[in-house]
Amino acid sequence: DTMTDAELDKLRDGIRARDRRALARSITLLESTRSSHRDQAESLLTALLPDVGKSFRIGITGVPGVGKSTFIETLGLKAIEAGHRVAVLTVDPTSVVSGGSILGDKTRMEKLSSHANAFVRPSPSGGSPGGVARRTRESIYLCEAAGYDYVIVETVGVGQSELRVAQMTDFFLLLILPASGDELQGIKRGVMELADLILVNKADDDLQNAARRTVSSYTQAVRLMQPRVGGWQVPVLAVSALRDQGISETLDILAKFQTQYMESGLTEEYRAEQSRHWLRQEVSDGLIDLCQQDPVIAARLKTLENDVKAGRVVATVAARQLVSEIAQRRGNTQS
Ligand code: GDP
Repeated sequence: DTMTDAELDKLRDGIRARDRRALARSITLLESTRSSHRDQAESLLTALLPDVGKSFRIGITGVPGVGKSTFIETLGLKAIEAGHRVAVLTVDPTSVVSGGSILGDKTRMEKLSSHANAFVRPSPSGGSPGGVARRTRESIYLCEAAGYDYVIVETVGVGQSELRVAQMTDFFLLLILPASGDELQGIKRGVMELADLILVNKADDDLQNAARRTVSSYTQAVRLMQPRVGGWQVPVLAVSALRDQGISETLDILAKFQTQYMESGLTEEYRAEQSRHWLRQEVSDGLIDLCQQDPVIAARLKTLENDVKAGRVVATVAARQLVSEIAQRRGNTQS
């Protein structure tokens, strides 16, 4: 079921006209692994490129159960009240490992999903973590072309996906839980270093005191860290997504960051660097794909992978060897 050119044009016009169904269908097209679909997805993206870039891209992460969907729903509805249009995309890294999804099949963000000024897109299951993130980036572009000025990318804080999401957003928000003691939770330092804002959620009922202590220990911890964005002191705030406490303040912080960094052009520089990085990643993925297509190289790659896994060869050495073999083979076929 390949689309005709006329249908593709309709999809493009539909996105520009802010039609949510056209947007949803287009994202499905992006996610398709069929090569004819990929060609069409790429021409759609190219046609819409002039409409891309006009949103605030916000990454949100936190462990399962921290309250991400509750928080995004409360924040999203408030942002809409303030005149924004909100899109939510999820990157679910676990679908790859388990075949299932941590984010689950439960209906999430029901109120937000049904709001006319919101678009909520759950993550596809399956595919490589890189693959999912690849399509998410492209989906951000489509959401922007469809006029969403807040694009939220949500991911479960369990693995590699945080970095990937941080690499495609302007602002990264970490949700944590109130802890009983003073100690920092088992949140990897690397993830904390990505954060532009840390929110201690569920600061209500019997957890209020614990939340206060957690805020103060994290405030101390972030002071010792290099802020990701120069001159931005990472705020740590107690909120209750359920009771709608601290959510307006969160929106104020977002707006402050927007004024300070986006309007000054710094975000543009940052995005340019992200795009360059993205290109490089795509080129290396493309080269790996090429290797897989050549039976001789593919076999060599497999052997080297086994050597590396078994600890017989250092990865850098193996990679250099393979690259030089590829270069040699090319020389032979060209002469
Ligand atoms: P997610 O897995 O991170 O998306 O978490 P959910 O948003 O599904 O929330 C997990 C559970 O925590 C649900 O039962 C929510 O009702 C509850 N929850 C979320 N936010 C709050 C909050 O601010 N306070 C309290 N007390 N419970 C909350």
